[in-house]
Amino acid sequence: MKTLFRYLAAYKKRISLGLSIKSLGTIAELVLPLIMAHMIDVVTPTENILALSLWGVGMLACAVIAWGGNVIANRMASRVARDTTQRLRDDLFKKTLYLSARQIDGVTLPSLVSRLSSDTYNVHNTIGMMQRLGIRAPILLIGGVALTFTIDAVLALVLLVTVPVLTLIVIFVSSKGVGLYTRLQRSVDGMVRKVRDDYTGIRVIKALSKTEYESESFRSINNTVSGNETKAGVTMGVTNPLMNAVLNLGMAAVIFVGAYRVAAGRVMVGEIIAFTSFFTIILNAVISVSRIFVNMTKGAASAKRIGAILDMPADLLPVPTEDEKGGAYIRFENVSFSYEGAPALQNVDFSLKRGQSLGILGATGSGKSTLISLLMRFYDVDSGRILIDGKDVRSYDDAELREKFGVVFQNDFLMAASVRENIDFERGLSDAAIERAAEYAKADAFIEEHGGYESLLTARGANFSGGQKQRLLIARALAASPEILVLDDSSSALDYRTDASLRKALVENLADTTVIMIAQRISSVRFADKILVLDGGRVAGLGSDEELMQSCALYRAIYASQHEDAVAERGGDAYAE
Ligand code: ADP
Ligand code: MG
Repeated sequence: MKTLFRYLAAYKKRISLGLSIKSLGTIAELVLPLIMAHMIDVVTPTENILALSLWGVGMLACAVIAWGGNVIANRMASRVARDTTQRLRDDLFKKTLYLSARQIDGVTLPSLVSRLSSDTYNVHNTIGMMQRLGIRAPILLIGGVALTFTIDAVLALVLLVTVPVLTLIVIFVSSKGVGLYTRLQRSVDGMVRKVRDDYTGIRVIKALSKTEYESESFRSINNTVSGNETKAGVTMGVTNPLMNAVLNLGMAAVIFVGAYRVAAGRVMVGEIIAFTSFFTIILNAVISVSRIFVNMTKGAASAKRIGAILDMPADLLPVPTEDEKGGAYIRFENVSFSYEGAPALQNVDFSLKRGQSLGILGATGSGKSTLISLLMRFYDVDSGRILIDGKDVRSYDDAELREKFGVVFQNDFLMAASVRENIDFERGLSDAAIERAAEYAKADAFIEEHGGYESLLTARGANFSGGQKQRLLIARALAASPEILVLDDSSSALDYRTDASLRKALVENLADTTVIMIAQRISSVRFADKILVLDGGRVAGLGSDEELMQSCALYRAIYASQHEDAVAERGGDAYAE
């Protein structure tokens, strides 16, 4: 809520102007029944046409002010709500891009998405509503009650009975309603999750002939949703008729009591008519106030969720440390790290000279990607340290550190744009740099076949094969001539021969670039200067292919199993390097 006020403060003037106009319009609305009563009770009996016309004009003026004021104020309110929400969304999106990996792990991605979409939408509604009804409803309620008492205190007593009954109904229904709607929303969330899973996995579902089963399970979720919807709808549907009944009963009471009092000469007819107008105005205001409360509860909850992100402290600030020039280019010193809970890396220790290549080998979950995340400082180490060029990664400025890297991540993505745009990635690189990168990544030949650098990729690059996409991604990583090239594309889409020769050529061409390649196949990294074998977050072996064949049992085991595969793949023909 505090965050929200900070944003609204920028529109202080517009908001106060809007609220003033609104108040004026609302007061004009309250005056209308009074004028009418005066015309009926005082002016009409005198049969003075001129006076009657003048009062009529006055009434018209009030009506115009009430209507015009409302329209103008509501439009201003919409504009403030729109502008505030737009800025809020912009800031929220920008902030999420700066969150550290650990912070994102904590909040989770789906929650970030819903904060950016439905929570900002709720806040938008609340800001709009507060301006439209926030001042109008209290003025109508308090002003209306005060005026009815000046007309006739006895009649006003009818109000004292009706208003509390109405308030109770509203409180009861809305308290029940909030629970029902929360449950409905949760079941809708469940349905969305189900749909998303099924649509993503639609091929698997078809392949495994699970279509019937999935339809059945969707049907049951859908039933739950519509059941909850019915419950909420029926409960809320009772409100309006019930309120109308109370309103009409109250009205009947007013007219019943009023008729006696008119007959007794204590009240005049015009006053009764004015009174019934106020009666409707007041009861509608009660309903509005209750709606404001429900809406505010929702809006405040959403504002809190948004504020929690916006106010997250910057994680991973640069930590100044001593530089140690000379020695290795990349150095892991006894590095340990864990996500929540189990350790992902333990006592990892190695170093690389500038221009050397490193292959990282290990089963899934052995900590390969984690090692890269630490090197690029998406997370900070728990103990030990990582140096690049003699400088602790924690002492680099974010941009300075990340500029050193060209990376292909696991599950990296291509945009529906031209080949050039995909390689350039908005960095404004020269044609020569892009073409050289494509050449090194062995992508130039098929780019020509597809019609050159301006040819378009369809969504997710579906018109390119898996291996071609992989090479486009490598070209992207290479294009800005990074000091360190990281390839975390462990499940290569290329056959082992093409893959190995591509990587080998890369390492040879990029003599000054330090290349780190993650792989599951030994053939992809055999030629690397050093190979790091990871096993459950620990270093099981470190050295060249030859050294590891001598010293590392795990490496030999991996080699044996993959060698058999390779032999089998080629129909028994021994696979020679
Ligand atoms: P690899 O890349 O070798 O397959 P990872 O480095 O991705 O392995 O993962 C190492 C371990 O850390 C695994 O047990 C994995 O489940 C866990 N892990 C990876 N990322 C996260 C994360 N963001 N939060 C919690 N645990 C994680
Ligand atoms: Mg991985």
